[in-house]
Amino acid sequence: MIQIAADGAPIAAHVSWTLYPGGDEIAYLRADPVLIGPFGAIHLRFSSAEGATKQETSQLVYLDTTRPFFGGTRPWFICPIESGSEPCGRRVGILYLPPNASHFGCRACWDLTYASCRASHRYDRMFEELARLKPGATAASMRDFLQGAPRWT
Ligand SMILES: [Zn+2]
Repeated sequence: MIQIAADGAPIAAHVSWTLYPGGDEIAYLRADPVLIGPFGAIHLRFSSAEGATKQETSQLVYLDTTRPFFGGTRPWFICPIESGSEPCGRRVGILYLPPNASHFGCRACWDLTYASCRASHRYDRMFEELARLKPGATAASMRDFLQGAPRWT
């Protein structure tokens, strides 16, 4: 699966894949900045080779920015996937191109489970229960206290 992060946008980029160093290009991803909309967009063009057939897909992804409290600006992608007649429109940091998918989209659109996130929240309820037993403790403080314990099993 190919992932692109908004942190790197909107710098023009060209990524190429080969089977071995110096080999023929089997796939590529180009990202070019486009001055459109309030925060710009990137024009993605990517190809993949299925046997002798090489296809190119073109996709326009709008950008958004926020201003973090520590300064600067944080770029975001606006998910371009349309479901029905409505565009997704979620503001996301990473777009995904799952195997056999033809377009980049957000995690929600591609129904990708956030396994590591779910695993990290697996014990939230246990920490909350433990915190109720100790005056002044919070679920976060109990998690910190028990940090040496295995978090994944
Ligand atoms: Zn989406």
